[in-house]
Amino acid sequence: MISTQFDYVCAQTLDEALTLLAENEDAKILAGGHSLIPAMKLRLATPPLLIDIGRIPDLCYIREEGGQIRIGAMTSHYQIESSELLKNICPLLPECAGHIGDVQVRNKGTIGGSLAHSDPAGDWPAAAIALNAELVAASKDGERSISADDFFVDLMTTDLRPGEILREIRINKRGGRTGHAYVKMHHPASGFAVVGVAASITLDDNGGCKHTSIGITGISGKAYRAATVESALNGKAPDDQAIAGAAAHATEGVEINGDLFASEDYRRHLAVVYAKRAIALAIERAG
Ligand SMILES: Cc1cc2nc3c(=O)[nH]c(=O)nc-3n(C[C@H](O)[C@H](O)[C@H](O)COP(=O)(O)OP(=O)(O)OC[C@H]3O[C@@H](n4cnc5c(N)ncnc54)[C@H](O)[C@@H]3O)c2cc1C
Repeated sequence: MISTQFDYVCAQTLDEALTLLAENEDAKILAGGHSLIPAMKLRLATPPLLIDIGRIPDLCYIREEGGQIRIGAMTSHYQIESSELLKNICPLLPECAGHIGDVQVRNKGTIGGSLAHSDPAGDWPAAAIALNAELVAASKDGERSISADDFFVDLMTTDLRPGEILREIRINKRGGRTGHAYVKMHHPASGFAVVGVAASITLDDNGGCKHTSIGITGISGKAYRAATVESALNGKAPDDQAIAGAAAHATEGVEINGDLFASEDYRRHLAVVYAKRAIALAIERAG
């Protein structure tokens, strides 16, 4: 199928894009186009105007600033996957990026587009939650920062308001003995996450779990923080029993999706297994 007719503007600056968005409330931002264009071809989205933000130069960067990692919304999955800076200071991000789609998807798709799209089987939302990311939204009225925990509201629904563009992703660098991991069961047909678990774990001097942060995707209508898993592990020596006991809470309080490929029960089981794997790997990497 082909899309309905639409107008197209390639914005040269963020201000121009924000002005166009403020003046055209049904317009859609076009980033990498790897979710929006398929949706338009299926006529699930019929925007009268596309505002392309792909040529705005200051939306594509990865840098360290003020103790934080800052990533421009238009940074592609591949740029993150291949960033030496991120491999050194936040390896969860390149690891997560490497699990997304295929080379073509990773070359065009962007972290900002993926977070704003909030696909329930998308990979970035789990990583953003595990890393306690702050998402900076810009509008004609200024900017505001939204925590990843508050950003994902429902199925393909975020806290972004009309007229807002996701501009930047900020992540506080975590020091000490911190290990990260992203593990995923790829759907054999689409490559999206049947389940994806991101873990960021800091150990104390005695090897106990000081800070545990777990984001899970693929299971429910939106990615979520596995808060009960975190509290079950914090303060404990991370032996096999403690890890298994904590991972058993992976879907606590969550409405689980079932479909032809993975029933609700199977997804519940997968979430526990993959949470266990992610935790064990993050602890091993924390050293
Ligand atoms: C074959 C295929 C396989 C894929 N496999 C995976 C996978 O395994 N894992 C995964 O996570 N994803 C996967 N994807 C999705 C891919 O990662 C997309 O790139 C991503 O979901 C959307 O990013 P985009 O830059 O392409 O955004 P677009 O498609 O351009 O936009 C997506 C939505 O977000 C809005 N938007 C975009 N940028 C912004 C912004 N800065 N501020 C506000 N709103 C914005 C748009 O208006 C639109 O509604 C796959 C896609 C394809 C086609």
